[in-house]
Amino acid sequence: MILDKFSLAGKVALVTGANRGLGQGLALGLAEAGADIALVGRSEPTASVTRVEALGREAFTVPVDLASADPAALEGVVSEVIAHFGRLDILVNNAGIIRRQTAAEHSAENWADVLKVNLDASFFLAQAAGRAMLAQGSGKIIFIASMLSYQGGILVPGYTASKHAVAGLVKALANEWAAAGVNVNGIAPGYMATDNTAALRADPDRAESIGTRIPAARWGLPEDLQGAVVFLASAASDYVHGAIIPIDGGWLVR
Ligand code: NAP
Repeated sequence: MILDKFSLAGKVALVTGANRGLGQGLALGLAEAGADIALVGRSEPTASVTRVEALGREAFTVPVDLASADPAALEGVVSEVIAHFGRLDILVNNAGIIRRQTAAEHSAENWADVLKVNLDASFFLAQAAGRAMLAQGSGKIIFIASMLSYQGGILVPGYTASKHAVAGLVKALANEWAAAGVNVNGIAPGYMATDNTAALRADPDRAESIGTRIPAARWGLPEDLQGAVVFLASAASDYVHGAIIPIDGGWLVR
């Protein structure tokens, strides 16, 4: 049955930044499809743990600040998840930050902070998870890209650079790992109503210009990503490698 291929029963997923926003929606989607969830981040994910458990799945929390964790610490996070569950099948590199400041004024601190969380931590977590998945002969790695993996954006040069780089990593890792049964893909959310976009939505001019440009005529919600993440995490996408799926209400085709 084709729907059986979408089941994640018996699988283990590691999701970063799953305490709120898109990461919470992604984790809940994976749990509803049957996966147990390792929630990795710097804040206690109390609400997400409760909701994962309410779906009948196990939630395991690993505290880490992705802005300061070095590659060895990130390898330790992956090892901790595998020690707890006995395996790791799915990695969702979701945690990310944005710093708004003109390119002319963009500080070295803003630049470094964004690259550290959005790019460095994502790569070294994927490297550590990838090693385990290569040894296992299977695995699914999903990066969260952005419209700014394709476009330049306004006031966010570091964020745009990080998300273009994430799109490149999806392709680079897919090329190396596809033949070994490890799928590396991405999801590019459009403009979603989370804390990440609170400043945009609070600015009447930007909110109006963005809102009226979205063909679907609304901002996205965390639940809008659940179908794609379950697809990319499941056997239904076994021949999908290096793809980035825009979930953007049509933004890119406008
Ligand atoms: P959000 O609501 O601001 O949530 C960000 C998540 O990342 C939080 O869980 C946060 O944890 C975590 N995080 C940030 N810095 C961290 C650190 N140093 N260590 C560990 N965790 C950290 O943002 P969101 O909208 O859900 O964004 C999630 C992902 O989607 C990001 O990669 C973002 O770039 C991407 N995205 C968002 C949109 C959008 O429109 N919202 C569009 C395209 C792509 P804390 O709660 O501890 O801060």
